[in-house]
Amino acid sequence: MALFRAEAVVLRTKDLGEADRIVTLLTATEGKLRAVARGARRQRNRLASGTQLFTRADFLLSRGKGLHTVSQCQVLEAFRPLREDLDRLARGSYCLELLDLATEEQDPAPILYPLLLGTLHVLADGPADEWDIALRFFELHLLQAAGFGPGWDVCGHCGGDLPGDSFAFDPAAGGLLCGSCRVASGGLRISLGAVQTARHLLRADLRRARSTRMGAAVAMELERSLRTYITYILERRLRSLDFLDSLRGAENDREVTYNGISGED
Ligand SMILES: [Zn+2]
Repeated sequence: MALFRAEAVVLRTKDLGEADRIVTLLTATEGKLRAVARGARRQRNRLASGTQLFTRADFLLSRGKGLHTVSQCQVLEAFRPLREDLDRLARGSYCLELLDLATEEQDPAPILYPLLLGTLHVLADGPADEWDIALRFFELHLLQAAGFGPGWDVCGHCGGDLPGDSFAFDPAAGGLLCGSCRVASGGLRISLGAVQTARHLLRADLRRARSTRMGAAVAMELERSLRTYITYILERRLRSLDFLDSLRGAENDREVTYNGISGED
């Protein structure tokens, strides 16, 4: 059996049989893959700790058709705060679910691994006022790396310039609409401040993004626009959002109905 080594983060786990666990891993070099960890749900099993959600580990895998097998794993980082603090957990879970849904297996996209790790570090160790900006940074860069856009520089419908400071955001057009396309096809209103923040985050690295301050209105607008976009692109609402919204007391309606996709299951 061909063995290979891969550093990876555990994106998803699923119980199999009595004591086994199937893990979905984002590897540093081979993209996303799935592997079975035999006996990993038994206490004291040598694969138990390395195959838990969020864990970053060095894996030794034996190659299979579609499903690999975990032969050994050594924990590099447990991301304990993400498991022990509900607010951090909810946001971290959202990152894992979004990345899992937006990527295909064995499609190496080298940017995704450092993007995920950097974001998880902010969520695990950073102060609460950096979490939202880190999530928006993660969404924007993940969507771009996965080839989903959205575009922020020209009209998504006609390709024309975007003069002025009155924009609409239209998921079906793949981004912003210019004034005339907006009159013709609608879209969701989005402010210049939110558009500029999105452009800034796409140009920035995470270190610079973390120091970006968003006003409450811009923060909510950008979150709502991206959430509506992601729901539209993936044709589903992410389960982890229910958890996140319930923790926040569903203080706001952060999503609007768009073309009949309201985000409800
Ligand atoms: Zn246009």
